[in-house]
Amino acid sequence: MHQVDTMNLSVLDVIQIIEAKISELRAEDKPKLFSCFLHQFLERFCGYLKERSQTSGHASIDEEGPKFIFRVVDGYISNMVKPTPVAPTDWSQTIRGLCPGSCADCASLRAFVESPTQRVMQFAVAEKRRKHLHSKLDGTFVCNTIRSG
Ligand SMILES: [Zn+2]
Repeated sequence: MHQVDTMNLSVLDVIQIIEAKISELRAEDKPKLFSCFLHQFLERFCGYLKERSQTSGHASIDEEGPKFIFRVVDGYISNMVKPTPVAPTDWSQTIRGLCPGSCADCASLRAFVESPTQRVMQFAVAEKRRKHLHSKLDGTFVCNTIRSG
């Protein structure tokens, strides 16, 4: 902030310049500006405002500074946080490599995987059959082993 004085700019000028530059950027470039520059700038700017609040009288920067911080952080968050994805109405999937015919475990697994509504299934099986079921599932499925009950 002290460099600002030597350039004969007010801090208010600087935050106006920064906001003008932010508004010119494409949305996809804004996160990079925040991580490479704005984050460090805001840290120093907060320190500057804190220092001012302890030593100086009231000036427009004391009012505009916190508003600027809010706008920058709000803009960053709004840009980064996307709407919650809509849950699919059909959860059915297909998996390859299930045993054809007489394997009851694969038949149960197929019924679960192809169900449009069922999202969780418990298979009460011992280790050998559990490993068989695990071998049929890829990384899109989350498998947990419940060892009690
Ligand atoms: Zn099988």
